[in-house]
Amino acid sequence: LRALKALGIEPTVCHMNEGHAAFLAAERIRQVMERSGAGFAEAKAVVAASNVFTTHTPVPAGIDVFPPDLVERYFAPCCAQLGLSRDQFMAFGRQNPADPNEPLSMAVLAIRLSGATNGVSALHARVSQRMWAGLWPDVPVDDVPITSITNGVHVRGWLSQDMAGLFDAYLGPRWVSHPADQSVWERVEQIPDAELWRTHERRRERLVGFARRRLRMQLEQRGAPPAEREQAEEVLDPKALTIGFARRFATYKRATLLFTDPGRLSRILSDRDRPVQIIFAGKAHPADQEGKDFIRRIVHFARQPEFRHRIVFLEDYDIKVGRYLYQGVDVWLNTPRRPLEASGTSGMKATANGAINISILDGWWDEAYDGTNGWAIGRGEEYQDTGYQDQIESQALYQILESEVVPMFYARGRDGLPREWIRRMKHAMRTICPVFSAYRMVREYTERLYIPAGQQWERLGAD
Ligand SMILES: *Cc1c(COP(=O)(O)O)cnc(C)c1O
Repeated sequence: LRALKALGIEPTVCHMNEGHAAFLAAERIRQVMERSGAGFAEAKAVVAASNVFTTHTPVPAGIDVFPPDLVERYFAPCCAQLGLSRDQFMAFGRQNPADPNEPLSMAVLAIRLSGATNGVSALHARVSQRMWAGLWPDVPVDDVPITSITNGVHVRGWLSQDMAGLFDAYLGPRWVSHPADQSVWERVEQIPDAELWRTHERRRERLVGFARRRLRMQLEQRGAPPAEREQAEEVLDPKALTIGFARRFATYKRATLLFTDPGRLSRILSDRDRPVQIIFAGKAHPADQEGKDFIRRIVHFARQPEFRHRIVFLEDYDIKVGRYLYQGVDVWLNTPRRPLEASGTSGMKATANGAINISILDGWWDEAYDGTNGWAIGRGEEYQDTGYQDQIESQALYQILESEVVPMFYARGRDGLPREWIRRMKHAMRTICPVFSAYRMVREYTERLYIPAGQQWERLGAD
């Protein structure tokens, strides 16, 4: 805000995209008071009405909270300028404003100082209504004013060159200029099966090559003996059904769910005629011991003789690694513990590249899944007993792989094409790309939140 002020720009609407940004509300109030001579209450009314807040997680560990003495230390001058005592300031960040021991929550601060709050999927908005109902003690939960704008991805930015070329040829230029237009994506059906499949297989081969190089590099860095390094050249199979799993290793994402029954997993992966392989990538938060243990377990499994050629863990997950994976896998797997995945976006990126999602019905997938554009693990159940949940849901996942995914992928016609699989790929692209697009998302933010917030700024600030 101070940088904008130095440039002579006074924003009419501020979007606090995640609670980390919430202190800007205090600074914005301070600036309005300074410029207009208004008191705190008036300035706060104008500013809050023209702030928008997006909450991104129902996981408490993902929300910053600060104890009163820390707020005192850093915000004493700010409180003085706002004409507030420390506890008056803290009250905006407390669920119970009267509790002098409650820490300051950045999410609460953002909600109390915004005119509109949204979650990042329909399900996440409902969960957020329950989570923050205490801030509106007189309002029924269903009426808590937290709306939803589902995330979307910038399709062109995540798409392989190969697939983009195919879209240019068969969808025309409007897939770039009007990516949220349903009719553009209907034309996916016109891409010849053989061409789509060849394009996809080329990307899978590229992914396998990339994974081998990275694995070799990892082994070298670890000082592995030459014989072991050589083996990196032989892991994975460019023709095998390839499952990708890459994301932050937050506990609720359950990266190791597939290993609940190692024997059953081994049988799925090592079928000689219908091999399956899995590429994992991801990082744990430095303070998340359980997340790090997940990585340790996967690395351990990947070294066992029965898994060595079929499971790879890629270190240093970042956008480049992500891109290779989204662009080359056949299946994108997501196993969050519902309802903790606020949205999830990697599955959207994978879909545009022709991957098919298998996921718990959580976050975006709860609204994207239509019965035939991928696979759902379970029916959106929520459990008290997480051990029991892991049992049930891992078995459901094995069942889907064994009875649907593997047979469909390997059901080849005389031309070598998996027709049914390709039909599902196309159906997924057609139903998901236009909806879970950043273009649609930004338009929704603009029309539903920014423009009304800007009008409030004008109206309340006029006099
Ligand atoms: C898309 C993406 C994410 C987010 O993935 P989720 O499945 O939504 O958790 C994280 N990291 C990278 C590098 C990504 O590209």
